[in-house]
Amino acid sequence: MRRLHPQDSGEPAAATRAAPVAARTMLHELARELDPQEVAAIERAGSPELPPGAVSAPFPPAGARRSLGRGVPTIPQPPRGPAHLAPPPPVRKGRGARSNPAGRFETLLSHAFDDGWETLAADFAALPPLATTTLRDASRTAIAWNRSPDVDFDRSVNPYRGCEHGCIYCYARPSHATLGFSPGLDFESRIVFKPEIAHLLERQLRRPGYTARPIALGANTDPYQPLERTLTLTRAVLEVLQRFNHPVIITTKSAGVLRDLDILRDMAGRRLACVNISLTTLDPALARTMEPRAAAPHRRLQAIEQLAAAGVPVSVLAAPMIPGLNDTELERILAAAAKAGARGAGYILLRLPHELKTLFTEWLETHYPDRAAHVLSLIRETRAGALNETKFGQRHSGTGPYADLLARRFLQAARGNGLTERIGLDCTRFAVPAEADAERAQMSLF
Ligand code: SF4
Repeated sequence: MRRLHPQDSGEPAAATRAAPVAARTMLHELARELDPQEVAAIERAGSPELPPGAVSAPFPPAGARRSLGRGVPTIPQPPRGPAHLAPPPPVRKGRGARSNPAGRFETLLSHAFDDGWETLAADFAALPPLATTTLRDASRTAIAWNRSPDVDFDRSVNPYRGCEHGCIYCYARPSHATLGFSPGLDFESRIVFKPEIAHLLERQLRRPGYTARPIALGANTDPYQPLERTLTLTRAVLEVLQRFNHPVIITTKSAGVLRDLDILRDMAGRRLACVNISLTTLDPALARTMEPRAAAPHRRLQAIEQLAAAGVPVSVLAAPMIPGLNDTELERILAAAAKAGARGAGYILLRLPHELKTLFTEWLETHYPDRAAHVLSLIRETRAGALNETKFGQRHSGTGPYADLLARRFLQAARGNGLTERIGLDCTRFAVPAEADAERAQMSLF
């Protein structure tokens, strides 16, 4: 990621529905993340914390767990990509991904095919709307640590896994495969939430020897996705950080961050909080298909304005920049953000790890068939001939003339719009409050 300062420096689609048999890798991930008793309880009773309108579902699909084990055979996989035996699945209103391809840990795939009666198209058309499902996560810690040299934080907290915003390019999609879900429609419709996250965070902050450094809130998935309106887990995390005087960097594509303006204003006053608003386009039509449930571009600009007016330092994150699709807007995005009150800026070149290659290509060919080939060719130009690059130092900015030009354009636009401020947070204020204070704070919630 190129930055100017440290804070910035379901229902599987019929055509590709995968038989839910997971590999041992997935089993290990599940064992690490989930308490088996809790999973069993959820399956028996459903999730009691479901917000209105949400639907509960077994996690992972019961069939998948029965199939786990040493004896799982590895079955040759049919060719991936658009199903050759069936028409493509329909575009789901309000969803980013078009299909639900099997994750990379699955060992069985099934493909729908038309057996001569030509009924598949009718079957697809009859699919009911895809409801969002929520599932509890029984993680035992709140903070995730990272050693990546090309991000500016070493720790993060993510109250949710999966993201209903459904951005088609989201680099967090492949992580859903570790839960036995598809990085496609499952990622945006099966959301895992961590009900104990604030409590777990407080416990970690109280550990002897804990040293404060900025925590990234929403580094993986958006902390202000729609579910936050009812679960308020992000707010609970912020309340803990506020009491501990712990610095926090929030990244979001939602104007929902304004609901916590009272806390953020207070923390920013002590140099403990800043916000990155991710803005990829000013074109509502492009945003609607590319990030179907994230805030509209004008709402994100309003969020920048209101945060800035409240004294909360804001940066704009033009991420991702997609060659030939939204990168032509880079200068306009930075100018609009600066006008709204942003003080810093950053950008990231599109990344397409794992299953994202297929999902993004499918989306591109659906919504922009006339320029899909050109966009993919430009992406390859910035990734040494491939669609993705994993090397530290290159994965966020790419290589080659096109990537270099984008970097120069960014620097020029950031400087030209005064988006060069280094927003430093204060780690020296961190202090562990007495237990009695913590109990009082909790009691005040009732
Ligand atoms: S808002 Fe962020 S986390 Fe959510 S889908 Fe979009 S890119 Fe992914």
